[in-house]
Order: sequence, then structure tokens, then C-alpha cells
Amino acid sequence: MKRRDILKGGLAAGALALLPRGMAQGAPQNQPALGRRYRNLIVFVYDGFSWEDYAIAQAFARRRQGRVLTLERLLSRYPTGLVNTYSLTSYVTESSAAGNAFSCGVKTVNGGLAIHADGTPLKPFFAAAKEAGKAVGLVTTTTVTHATPASFVVSNPDRNAEERIAEQYLEFGAEVYLGGGDRFFHPETRKDKKDLYALFAQRGYGVVRTPEELSRSNASKLLGVFWDSHLPYEIDRRFQGLKVPSLKEMVQAALPRLAASRQGFVLQVEAGRIDHANHLNDAGATLWDVLAADEALDLLVAFVDQHPDTLLLLVSDHATGVGGLYGAGRSYLESSAGIDLLEPQRASFEHMRRVLGNSPDANQVKEAFRAMKGVALQDQEAEIVVRAIREKVYWPEGVRHGVQPDNTLAWAMAQRNPQKPDRPNIGWSSGQHTASPVMLLLYGQGLRFLNLGLVDNTHVFRLMGEALGIRYQNPVMSEEEALEVLKARPQGLRHPEDVWA
Ligand code: ZN
Ligand code: MG
Ligand code: ZN
Repeated sequence: MKRRDILKGGLAAGALALLPRGMAQGAPQNQPALGRRYRNLIVFVYDGFSWEDYAIAQAFARRRQGRVLTLERLLSRYPTGLVNTYSLTSYVTESSAAGNAFSCGVKTVNGGLAIHADGTPLKPFFAAAKEAGKAVGLVTTTTVTHATPASFVVSNPDRNAEERIAEQYLEFGAEVYLGGGDRFFHPETRKDKKDLYALFAQRGYGVVRTPEELSRSNASKLLGVFWDSHLPYEIDRRFQGLKVPSLKEMVQAALPRLAASRQGFVLQVEAGRIDHANHLNDAGATLWDVLAADEALDLLVAFVDQHPDTLLLLVSDHATGVGGLYGAGRSYLESSAGIDLLEPQRASFEHMRRVLGNSPDANQVKEAFRAMKGVALQDQEAEIVVRAIREKVYWPEGVRHGVQPDNTLAWAMAQRNPQKPDRPNIGWSSGQHTASPVMLLLYGQGLRFLNLGLVDNTHVFRLMGEALGIRYQNPVMSEEEALEVLKARPQGLRHPEDVWA
């Protein structure tokens, strides 16, 4: 990465405009230390989770379920902070650069896993933990080979190379892999026709494909792949009866296997589809994935209470959307109606579109919104949805960025009455990631009065390292060096928008 000579030669001045020179790596920020060691580490990532998502789930739990979220209980009593999320070359990160910051402790360009833009590989934290004798587990609601889990164990220039990442998982040899992504393991769908399931089984893994197989298995090492792509949203698992394990059930299967390790373990749990629901502006799907994460969190908290040599680190990688509950009515007295109006939602847009197919008519659309979202669409709104689904475009504005046609489905059911909402008064301005700081929380013995403050996402790496006594430094790249590399390779890394990053 010695490009300073080239840089002196003449980097276009405009290319330096993204961040103040040097600020990506060096901005003065709080660097809290734990002051103690742990045997086990659990990192729970809420992908694409904003404080607006938090507020809606908190209100739904209190108002509709008469309870307090485990997350609320922890935030109110244990060390809580904020995380700056920007990547090396953008104030808006995507999940692999954010995952790299956590896992490798350095900023990278969006799109690669544990790697710099010039191909310099980085050592991900779970690889170092494995060398130190820790058992390793990855549990997610996305494809198990997706960016957030993958960035903790393997290096790859392309986060979308999930068939290759599945092979890298085999070589890496973690004790537990649970999530979706059958198409990257199955010989009929892999380009090279390799049967990854058979190869994992040869290495001693119990390979499970259904919730029943998961709960029955007594294999000490597990590969569980439960859906073709990402697991269905919790709202569809719960109300539409789609047969996959919940995040909690997967965590339940992972913990005893990892806890059997003599030298402790590291586990990443990911509530990975909060991000996807937010890309689609699907408030009901976001809500239920946050509630499912809370059930898994409850289990993790109980584990930490029983195994006080365990640190639980909870973090979001960036916000997505962002869908906020907006004020309504005189003195905002009608605002909370938006929470109540989420209750009749019984399916995600993803499921609704599966049911509707590629060319539904307006009546089918109206019936689907009534049954699955609890919203009575006007004829005109239903026609717009029909057109959006058939043409896969955003209509009527035609300029909105995001994931289509789903963002139009969200637009069609937006509440139109600012005085008295009859639809959820949750608004979105985009289906993209944002630059806002996000949640960080620690749960473990001896930490209660630690002040985390505002930290950089790379500081998560240092906290993990301190927790387990594993310290090393990955090579640092400057923003200028990265921009120079990208300029020389204009095809660069794929735009995050292509992949629901
Ligand atoms: Zn993400
Ligand atoms: Mg993710
Ligand atoms: Zn995303």
C-alpha cells in the first residue's frame, strides 16, 4: 500500500472532497476500556437498526403487549453508547465495510470482506480468536454467507461471492453456522455443482435443513441452512406459518455447542433482516424482526447471567430507511395510533408479492393489503401498486431511490390524514442507508458504570480484543490511497444498492 509517491504526483483535488483529510481514521473520539477480561464473547449485530426502529418497537411492546423490551431494560441500566458508522470513503457505509470496522479495527471501502481496496487482506477478529483456541459460531437471519457474518471470519474482495464464501466457511471450520442461503451450498444451484452439504458432513458437521432437524440434532458441530436465500421475515414465520427456526431457536441451538468448548467461544448473532425490511420501507416487517431479536436477546442475557465470564456486545452497523413514527393531530395526541395500526399487519411486502405474483389486478392488490397490512387502499392507490409490480418501477414520482417495486407498496399505504391517522403514520424518505450514529451496548459482569460515549465503529474491534486478551493491528489504509486505487479500477466494487447492502 505504498502509494504516497503516486499521490504526490497528482490526485484530482475533487476526489478528496468526501472526508476531511485524515479524519476518517483519526478524529478524536472516546476510547473507553473495559478494564477486565472475559472467556466468551457474543457480538449481537442489529443490521440497519435505527433509533426510530427502537422507538417504534419500544412503544409497540409497551402499548400492545404490556411489557418492556429486554433491549429497553438493558439500555436503561447498562453501558450504552453511540457508534459513528462512516466507511473509509463514504459517510454512508454498507454492511461489509461496517463489519470490517468491527472485525478488523480499520476503515475500508464499501463492498469487500476483511480486505483493503488494493487487495491487502485483513485478519478478521474471529480468525484470531480461533487461533487462540476459541470455538466460533455464526447465527443470522440472512444467508449465512452474507456480509455481516462473513466479515468476521473470511477475507474476500467481493461480498457477493457467496458460493466462494461457503467454501471459505468449510476451510475456516467454525463450530456453528446457522442461517439461510441454500443456493450457495446446493449442488443443483451452485455454478460449479459442488455439494457443499456433503463436504461439510465429511468434516463432521451435522447438516440440518428444518426446525425439526435443528432441534433433534445432537451433532457437536452444526451447519444449518433453512431457506433458499435469506430466512423469511419474522412476521411471515409467525403469522404465515413459513417453516424456519426463529432467531431465538437458532441461538438456543448454538449456545450449548459453543459453551462446551474448553477454551471459551466467540459467537456472532445477527438480526440481519431489520436492514432489508427498512430498505423496503416495510414497517411491520421491521417491527417483528426487532421483536424477534429481543427474544433472542432475552436468551443471551440469561446465558450471560449463568456464565458471568461472558461479554455480550450489542451493536448496530448503520441505520436504514429511516422510518419514523410521526406526530399527528392537535398536540400530537393522535400520534400513538400509528403503533396500534401496526397490529393488524400479518405479512411482509416480500410475502405479499410472493402471493400476488408478477401481474396482479387491482382487486387482488386491495384484498392483499386488507388481509396482510390491515389497510383499505383507494382504487387509484391499488392501480399504482399494480403498475409498480408489473413494471418494477417507482411510480408516481419516478425518481425515488431504493428497492422497487416495494417502496411503492409502502408509498401506497402511507397515511394521508395528518389529523387522525387511519393507517400507520410511519414515514420514510428513502430506502437507503443513512449516516446517523447507531446503538452500542455492553452486558456483562463488572461493567455497569462504564461510560461508552460516542465511539468509532473500529473501536468495537478494540473492545472485543480487550475482552478476550487478543491484540493485533491490521494494516491501515488512508482515504487518499483508497480513492487512488478506486480511480485506477473504475468498475470498482458493486454499488450497494444492487445487493440490498
Ligand atoms: Zn448493514
Ligand atoms: Mg447484515
Ligand atoms: Zn442494507
